[in-house]
Amino acid sequence: MLEKLKEEVYKANMDLVKHGLVIFTWGNVSGIDRDKGLVVIKPSGVDYEVMKPEDMVVVDLQGNVVEGQLKPSSDTPTHLAIYRAWPEVGGVVHTHSTFATGWSQAGLDIPNIGTTHADYFHEAIPCTSDMTEAEVNGAYELETGNVIIKRFEGMNPMHTPGVLVKNHGPFAWGKDPHDAVHNAVVMEQVAKMASIAFAANPDLTMNPLLVEKHFNRKHGPNAYYGQR
Ligand code: 13P
Repeated sequence: MLEKLKEEVYKANMDLVKHGLVIFTWGNVSGIDRDKGLVVIKPSGVDYEVMKPEDMVVVDLQGNVVEGQLKPSSDTPTHLAIYRAWPEVGGVVHTHSTFATGWSQAGLDIPNIGTTHADYFHEAIPCTSDMTEAEVNGAYELETGNVIIKRFEGMNPMHTPGVLVKNHGPFAWGKDPHDAVHNAVVMEQVAKMASIAFAANPDLTMNPLLVEKHFNRKHGPNAYYGQR
């Protein structure tokens, strides 16, 4: 079942390795079939070198395994919370990529201080707040999803398709698994650029007009970037 989506999700997971975003088993990608209400996700703790498309696990939006021999990713409840909250999302990625995780550990939003950032993320990439004892000791991975969703109150998640979970690492999303990985790669690069920029000049600024220009030329109502 969902063989095409399994291939897609498998390839998206392998692309994380290709782009240097994961080492060992530190990451996961999923994709959703909205018509069927089913999610395909990487199995937990399986080496990328031996992982195969048929190892992908199919779960429903409540987390019940519908098909698959292996346990789904430990972060499955976080992915599912995102799919339930935001119907436009078609793929979710989590990694421990170095620079984005550095900002997560610093507990800081990544401010929008360059056109690379503005081309993909309208706002600062937000960092979530500390999780409470009840959240950590309770349904931790589900609560991680809930703190992400809470942090996006009043924001458009498709205009800022990523978040830093405090002391943990980045989650990114997109219209499909490939797009979500693309955004995760950009987020890592943006985090790296911001680290260098702030080290060179802690008082740096960016004209907000430039943010609007770059975001809107790719994503605004009169977007003109790329080919017709
Ligand atoms: P899984 O192998 O269970 O997906 O875990 C990877 C990870 O990055 C946990 O945060």
